[in-house]
Amino acid sequence: MGKHVKDYLSEYVDGELQEETRQLVESHMEGCAECAQELRELTQLKTLFFQAYENVNIPGLEFEQSVLSKINGNAGMGFAAHRINWLFILLGGIFFLSLSAILGPVIYLVVKFATAIFKVSMSLLHALAGLVSAIPFLLEAFLFTTIIILGISFFSVRYLLKTKTIG
Ligand SMILES: [Zn+2]
Repeated sequence: MGKHVKDYLSEYVDGELQEETRQLVESHMEGCAECAQELRELTQLKTLFFQAYENVNIPGLEFEQSVLSKINGNAGMGFAAHRINWLFILLGGIFFLSLSAILGPVIYLVVKFATAIFKVSMSLLHALAGLVSAIPFLLEAFLFTTIIILGISFFSVRYLLKTKTIG
């Protein structure tokens, strides 16, 4: 096998090669220092990348991280964890979609309810405005009634005092 296998090395590291191709890559690297060196560099690069990925602390992801480390038995984030991470994102997406599907009608009802309350308050305000505009008349009626009552009381008291002095 004279041809180099550099194009397959990334998939080889990820374990994504077919058994036949994997064996070809391995047998090539036994006799090719160049490809073997390339594999070492690639492995180091991937290790560094996943170490960096592991060390990224995004606030709010602590819970997910702790769940993942529990799943991995504190073994750190390997390739499997990387896949589980995507599973979490997918599950999160499904969760938020179903949540919005549930909350959608609720929000609609809340908006309808708020609109109804607004309409009721507006009509109450309208009635209050009508009442306010009727106040001058009410005030006059009140004053008129008060004067009549006071007048009647005054004459009644005078009448009572008169009858008392006489009697
Ligand atoms: Zn080679």
